[in-house]
This record gives sequence, C-alpha cells and structure tokens, in this order.
Amino acid sequence: MNLLVASPTGLCFGVRRAIGQLEDALTKYGTTYSLGSPIHNPPEVERLADLGLRLVERASDVPEGAVAFIRAHGAPHAEHDELNARAGVVVDGTCPFVRIAQERAESLVREGYLVVVLGDSRHPEVRGILGYIDGESMVVSSADDIGDDARYGRLGVLSQTTQMETALAALVAKLVVHAGEIKVYNTICRATIERQESIRRMSALVDGLIVLGGKDSANTGKLVEIAESLGVSTLWIERSAEIDWGWASGKGSIGVAAGGSTPDWLINDLTGKLKRL
Ligand code: SF4
Repeated sequence: MNLLVASPTGLCFGVRRAIGQLEDALTKYGTTYSLGSPIHNPPEVERLADLGLRLVERASDVPEGAVAFIRAHGAPHAEHDELNARAGVVVDGTCPFVRIAQERAESLVREGYLVVVLGDSRHPEVRGILGYIDGESMVVSSADDIGDDARYGRLGVLSQTTQMETALAALVAKLVVHAGEIKVYNTICRATIERQESIRRMSALVDGLIVLGGKDSANTGKLVEIAESLGVSTLWIERSAEIDWGWASGKGSIGVAAGGSTPDWLINDLTGKLKRL
C-alpha cells in the first residue's frame, strides 16, 4: 500500500501559535481557564487538560484573579473587557487573521455599511466578529439565503476565515444586483485555501482518503466535503484508534490529510500505524 500525506496539512499558523501561548501559560502559571475549547480536537484538549487547562463557557465563569485564555477564534469585544476586569492575567491567542476580520467589521460599521458575514452564525469565530459590530448585521450561510426580491442600500461583506472562496464569490455575485453599493473584504485565510487545494490534488492520486480532525472542526468538515464531492472514498476520524481496517484493506494507495486544528502528534500516530500496515 502506498501512503501519501497531504502538504500542507495539519495545524495552521493561528492555532499552532495559540496552542504555543497556552502551553507557555500552563507552564508558567498552572491552571488556566479557556473561554471555550482552545482547539476543535478532543485528544489535544485531553492532553492540555492534564497540564491544567480548564474550560469555561463565559468570562463570568473565570475565577477572580485567575489566568484566562482567549482561543484563536477570538471573542467578542465585551468578553475581552470582562476578562480584563476579572482575570489576573489574560493570554490573548486570537489569530491575527481573525483579528483582521474583526477590524474590517468594525471599520465597515463606522463607514455606514450594513455588514454581511458569510459563515455559520453559531461558530465562535462568527460570534466574535459580530461582537465587534455596533450596528446592523446579518450572517448568511450561502448565496441561497438572499431572497430574489431583497433590496439593500450599502452592504459591507466579509467572511468567516474558513469559508470556501467559491461560496464568497457566489454570495457577492448575488448581492451585487440587490444592493446600491457593495464593499467586499476577502477575509478567508490562505491556510484554509492551501489545505483545500492540497486535498483536491491528493484526491486524484489515491484510492481512499483519511481525514484526521475533530468532528466539531469546521475546516476539517470542509476538507471532507471537498474529498467526497470529488468522489474519493473518505474516512473522517479523530484519532488513529478509529480507523476502519476493513475500509483500508484492498486499497492500493491511501492519502492522509488533517484539519487545521489537528496537532502533529496525532498525524504521526496515524501515519505510523498505516506504515506498519
Ligand atoms: S485557519 Fe487561518 S484564520 Fe483560522 S486560526 Fe488558522 S491561520 Fe488563523
């Protein structure tokens, strides 16, 4: 069996940076409270919990004077303020690219645009971006959310960083005929695009593809969606113990790709087992 590993794959710049900051905080201060899960990857969260990570839902759940951590997805402005007032130390792991999307949203509001965010309204990154919009906004999951008879004045469009560029282009193409003015920021991050391109290349070369990543990871889900749309037999697992060996048997070549929140040690564990096979 041939084994191919997608390139690039695995941890993106922003999550690698944030997890490094979190590990430093755990080493320096011990118990550290993260506002939501720091990474959409259960095995990695288990490892960090052993080092002293504690998960909380709201800033008000962080004990007074404790160490607080903001994950790569960022947090609404109000939660930053509450943490700064409450925690002894705040470690801000917001990815610089997410920060740019937050700043774009703020500036669009200042310029008087109705902000349209392409993304999943329940996703923490989108909720964080919305927290920087002091005014009207709407979140759409695709161009299909725009009614044929909708009419808008000035629209400012941006995207959750993990969306597909084709979806943003389709949304803008639809909005442009319904708005008096439209201003667009492409806030989709290159890490996402590069991982999507690498899985497209790999899908043409293998009989089966294993996508390694958390089931709650939006960018991992997109990789699976792309692979399946290209007709390659795809297995989505969170850790190597979940491999269906019956699925793997008889395949001449298997590809491995990982979401942007999958740490190296999980990828190495999976490829090690496949090599032994
Ligand atoms: S996918 Fe891009 S924007 Fe999101 S955390 Fe990673 S580097 Fe940052």
